[in-house]
Amino acid sequence: ATPMAIMIGTGLGARHGILFKHAESIEKSARLDVVIFDKTGTLTVGAPEVVDMAVAPGWTQERLLAAAAAVEAHSEHPLAQAILKRAGPVAERATAFTNIDGQGATGVVDGVQVVLGNRILMVEHGIDLSVLEAEAARLTGAGRTVIYAGVGDRLAGFFAIADAIRETSRAAIDELHRRNIKVAMITGDNRPTAERVAQDLGIDIVLADVLPGGKADEVIKLQSQGLKVGMVGDGINDAPALTQADVGFAIGAGTDVAIESADIVLMHSDPYDVVRATTIAHATLRKMH
Ligand code: ADP
Ligand code: MG
Repeated sequence: ATPMAIMIGTGLGARHGILFKHAESIEKSARLDVVIFDKTGTLTVGAPEVVDMAVAPGWTQERLLAAAAAVEAHSEHPLAQAILKRAGPVAERATAFTNIDGQGATGVVDGVQVVLGNRILMVEHGIDLSVLEAEAARLTGAGRTVIYAGVGDRLAGFFAIADAIRETSRAAIDELHRRNIKVAMITGDNRPTAERVAQDLGIDIVLADVLPGGKADEVIKLQSQGLKVGMVGDGINDAPALTQADVGFAIGAGTDVAIESADIVLMHSDPYDVVRATTIAHATLRKMH
């Protein structure tokens, strides 16, 4: 594209809160084969809330909340914030807090280890989930994220957490499809939950149970099939994938690291702005001739 066309494209983007950081990002946006969206905070609003709880025999919701909150009081994770909001003021904070990246967190409460997180983490700690398995399956099948709590070596209960889909996520995906662009969703969340959300949104490829370090590898895999890949994300764990992608889009309300790693910043945090960016890109390239 001519420098003049690039200037016009950049200006048009800016007016919509779409910040193209460099000329190349406009040109590459016109040639995407697949766009990968991060789930939490990108396709969803990223304000998760506890909508259900289940307790194992011998436990009460109050005790479960107190044990979980004692650990999560140390965590910045959005899921931790959801549990803390439900628990109210924290009476006691855990000692020996450890964050387990992409899986959960642990700490010691009243001399006993409390482990909070996904199914894989519970299995690793030898915690038997069978008493609550059927109920957990029902909730993950409904698109909820289930966070289990193990106390000592026993299951104490779980939290079912919901995060609302952004208003324009579905429309963005439908429009990308109309433009013959495939859509993938990537998440550290578990497969049943991810599959349900993906189905509601009409997503083609579901990349679930991806550890924080694994997102960039998924981008590389698609690129090695000869595809031009766009990646849209908001989190610290999305940053390497945003850099690796042919075009990285950061959600404006996301973390500084994501914004720094991206080629394009979506100031309105609107997934549909990915579509608008490609429209501007095509218009800009047409002005080349
Ligand atoms: P995402 O890719 O959706 O942002 P993360 O990689 O941050 O997800 O986390 C993946 C999974 O790890 C979460 O869905 C959750 O099950 C678990 N997890 C991570 N941190 C915590 C925490 N502080 N408390 C409970 N569960 C957690
Ligand atoms: Mg996210």
